Amino acid sequence: MSEGIMQADQPETREAAGTDLFSKFDPIIQMREKLLGTGIEDPFSLVMERVLSPTRAVCNGRETILLGTYNYMGMTFDPDVIEAGKQALADFGAGTTGSRVLNGTYQGHKDVEQALCDFYDMDHAMVFSTGYQANLGIISTIAGKGDYIVLDIDSHASIYDGCKMGDAEIVPFKHNDIEAMEKRLKRIPDGAGILVVLEGVYSMLGDVAPLKEMVAVAKKHGAMVLVDEAHSMGFIGENGRGVAEQAGVMDDVDFIIGTFSKSVGTVGGFCVSNHPKFEIMRLVCRPYTFTASLPPSVVATACTSIRKLGQASNKRAHLWENSKRLHGGLKDLGFTLGTETPESAIIAVIMPDLEKGAAMWEALLKGGLYVNLARPPATPANMTLLRCSLCAEHSESEVEEILEIFENAGKSVGII
Ligand code: PMP
Repeated sequence: MSEGIMQADQPETREAAGTDLFSKFDPIIQMREKLLGTGIEDPFSLVMERVLSPTRAVCNGRETILLGTYNYMGMTFDPDVIEAGKQALADFGAGTTGSRVLNGTYQGHKDVEQALCDFYDMDHAMVFSTGYQANLGIISTIAGKGDYIVLDIDSHASIYDGCKMGDAEIVPFKHNDIEAMEKRLKRIPDGAGILVVLEGVYSMLGDVAPLKEMVAVAKKHGAMVLVDEAHSMGFIGENGRGVAEQAGVMDDVDFIIGTFSKSVGTVGGFCVSNHPKFEIMRLVCRPYTFTASLPPSVVATACTSIRKLGQASNKRAHLWENSKRLHGGLKDLGFTLGTETPESAIIAVIMPDLEKGAAMWEALLKGGLYVNLARPPATPANMTLLRCSLCAEHSESEVEEILEIFENAGKSVGII
């Protein structure tokens, strides 16, 4: 650092001439103030004071049915999962205090990676501290300068951030549009490395990608394929492997990304692959190497949960029933939904605007139901959504109760 920078009068000069770095947030601050100025409960700072079960909690002072968690398979309170976590906490301590490549690989990390290999019937599994980091790490490491990433425009933020970090050319195509995807692939120069990035279930509208066709097109153009199955793992496909399994394309997908924060019921992320050189990723993937590994209790809960998810076909069947019942019921009540038919455990109820959406969100909460209020930039096409995500532990009568709460709230807010 030069001596000039250290001179005492320098900070004063800078304050006088400088810009407040927070001024870029003014539009969102104003939008928030306008919304809260209506007297509404803040949809983005809800507190779960007590969690009673996978489907019920006390939040903002009331007992509430949870219809806005990612706890699709209800594993958060599974007794075997909890017991495994307690045992690992007692046996291995609270945390690893280190990277996977130094002191942070415990037996539990190896066990959960083996459970993932078995669950997906794949050769390699690499566990990250979150799903966000799995996308960030894998995408940025395998697609670098001079390579091309062809991705659905509605991809999750972690996919976009992984693209940005890796410096590849980014080529987005219209959501779920096979022709648009092929058109982009045709324009890529011969010999270039190509990664096609898709999601199984898109989390905002709950719609599913046409993976059979898309993977075939990607392969025809010599691309490698990565599918983020965050919202389909555990639920979709005969063994819960996701949309790739349902579409019969597991053998043509090069990388599956997933998370422990949804159906698995804890926290963490992963990538599974059959690529023969995959293990080198542990040494070259910065979001894997330069961060602490997951605590032993977390990997133990994940491992137990994944092993149980492999055998959970009854729960999968019940979750499908819930999804169909809620979708049909909301449609009959006159709500506009994100998909024509139920395609996943996510059912998005489209709101006319943010004000109406927030009013409806609050009316539902007061009626005893929690859903996610989703708004741009997280949502496609500037939409405001009430995103409902079902759980395999919701009973049939709970779904009926949910529909009743929706009917009352919809009428009081004037949406139906
Ligand atoms: N991918 C998708 C499609 C997601 O929706 C999410 C989280 N909502 C993630 C990745 C990140 O998962 P995690 O919560 O484990 O960071």
